[in-house]
Amino acid sequence: AKLHQRSGYSYFTRDMGVEIRERVRMMHALRAAFEGERLFVVFQPQIHMQSGRATGAEVLLRWKTEDGSLIPPDKFIPIAEYSGLIVNIGEWVLRTACFELLQIQKIGLHDFRMAVNVSQAQFSHPNFLRSIERALSDTRVRPDCIELEITESMAMTDPEMLIATLDQIKALGVRVSIDDFGTGFSSLSHLQKLKVDKLKIDRAFVNEIVGHSDSGGIAKMIVQLSQSLNLEVIAEGVENLEQAQALLSYGCEQAQGFYYAKPMPKQELLLWLQSQSHS
Ligand code: C2E
Ligand code: CA
Ligand code: CA
Ligand code: CA
Repeated sequence: AKLHQRSGYSYFTRDMGVEIRERVRMMHALRAAFEGERLFVVFQPQIHMQSGRATGAEVLLRWKTEDGSLIPPDKFIPIAEYSGLIVNIGEWVLRTACFELLQIQKIGLHDFRMAVNVSQAQFSHPNFLRSIERALSDTRVRPDCIELEITESMAMTDPEMLIATLDQIKALGVRVSIDDFGTGFSSLSHLQKLKVDKLKIDRAFVNEIVGHSDSGGIAKMIVQLSQSLNLEVIAEGVENLEQAQALLSYGCEQAQGFYYAKPMPKQELLLWLQSQSHS
């Protein structure tokens, strides 16, 4: 029995070893990709549904490997997070967003906004505020056109820290939205204390809207919540007209999803925006 246990144990560690080595390999590859400028961003328009116009875009990170294949962010963001690389990568994403925003505002879209995803590890890093300040002052971009997307689960881990950091971010004039809203079970009384500007309805709740407009119970509830808290609201993952119409009927004015536009590179976004302004 003892022998059996021992061999079982060593089998287990060998397996773990493989997993850890794979993670370490990915981490080195990610660092090399970041330094080799093989990380880039794409932009997905956020739409004011009634007018069909873009109010802004979400910045989404992409990793192109040397053989030309793409690794999706869901695969490498977790590695960036636990390795700490996300702090530098995230800072670069924010600066890139600010620079690209200037380009877009130059074509006449003066109120266009950029939404930037922020990880827990960035948010709780002591240099986070300074890195925002630097990005703002180096680009002289309008702070109220930058929107940081934090997740609801972040709102739960350290409420005191969160409230303090949000106060400082708001003091810079930057906007904040809660991403994937409805999945993190934060308490409503807690939500009321957070200085955020916007709720982003998680794709899962938009997905539930099929056919008739009454199927989106939770999405509808989040819209109502946003109204009573005086917050903006946007639905993510809108894939068809029925969902858009249902959301509009709930009072949700903004949407993001494949139905309107896919994430696209900057040049394509500029063309897309220009074709929009002529229609
Ligand atoms: P997220 O913040 O929830 O971003 C929205 C995701 O939904 C994006 O996936 C987008 O391409 C996808 N999406 C948009 N419209 C639709 C639709 O109509 N249907 C469906 N099925 N999907 C849609 P993506 O680009 O693969 O990003 C995945 C996640 O990776 C993001 O989820 C975000 O959590 C993370 N991420 C991406 N870029 C960054 C970044 O710069 N920093 C950090 N910290 N996280 C990032
Ligand atoms: Ca997001
Ligand atoms: Ca989201
Ligand atoms: Ca999501």
